[in-house]
Amino acid sequence: MTAVVVEFEAVSKTYPGGVAAVRDVSLRVERGELVAIVGPSGSGKSSMLNLMGSLDRPSAGRVLVDGHDVAALTDREVSALRATRIGFVFQQFHLAVGAPVLDSVADGLLYSGAPLRLRRGRAAAALDRVGLSHRVHHLPHQLSGGERQRVAVARAVVGEPAVLLADEPTGNLDTASGAAVLALLRDLHASGTTVVIITHDRDIAASLPRRIEMRDGRVIADTATESLR
Ligand code: ADP
Ligand code: MG
Repeated sequence: MTAVVVEFEAVSKTYPGGVAAVRDVSLRVERGELVAIVGPSGSGKSSMLNLMGSLDRPSAGRVLVDGHDVAALTDREVSALRATRIGFVFQQFHLAVGAPVLDSVADGLLYSGAPLRLRRGRAAAALDRVGLSHRVHHLPHQLSGGERQRVAVARAVVGEPAVLLADEPTGNLDTASGAAVLALLRDLHASGTTVVIITHDRDIAASLPRRIEMRDGRVIADTATESLR
């Protein structure tokens, strides 16, 4: 475990076709932080989160995740890093349609090689943590949107990742369900999880301890470094 969970050194991402989605970004996320990434649509927020989560590689600069230089790892090693050190939550919940939620969450531990019984035990504990112990045998379509997102959060944290990355996790939810998911992310942060969350919601962003603001692929403000500017 390193003290710096994510480090960007002059990172740029240009997609094939020439869109410069991330331009020369340097930043650090330290263990235990709760960070909001804000900015207009198309400003590069998701591209930056994908780089943080090693879902993508930078076109220039260096990305270190939990101390590992992503460019120096083989594809296999990147997969291992992602599976064991990073939890993702997206706007769409991405739950397997026909699978009981217990199994969806247990799948978050497939990479660990732990036997199914152990994975299910840990999945049950994670579902309890998100307040869904009464729903473990339900199928996704039997749950509300807010409950599905809480299942997705349970799956993301069941392996105790170094960082939880959430891309507009409340974007598809009504206000009350969104607030419940946000409260859950705050709880996880309070119990030690490092959380980075992209949000369009100004109230949510304003309530979080650190805000990184993006515009046209650049970080134009970061409350963690404001005193340095
Ligand atoms: P945000 O999440 O802030 O809306 P994105 O990171 O999704 O921004 O997109 C930043 C820019 O990169 C946009 O112009 C978008 O169209 C472009 N972009 C995003 N993903 C890809 C991709 N896979 N291929 C080409 N262009 C992309
Ligand atoms: Mg986005």
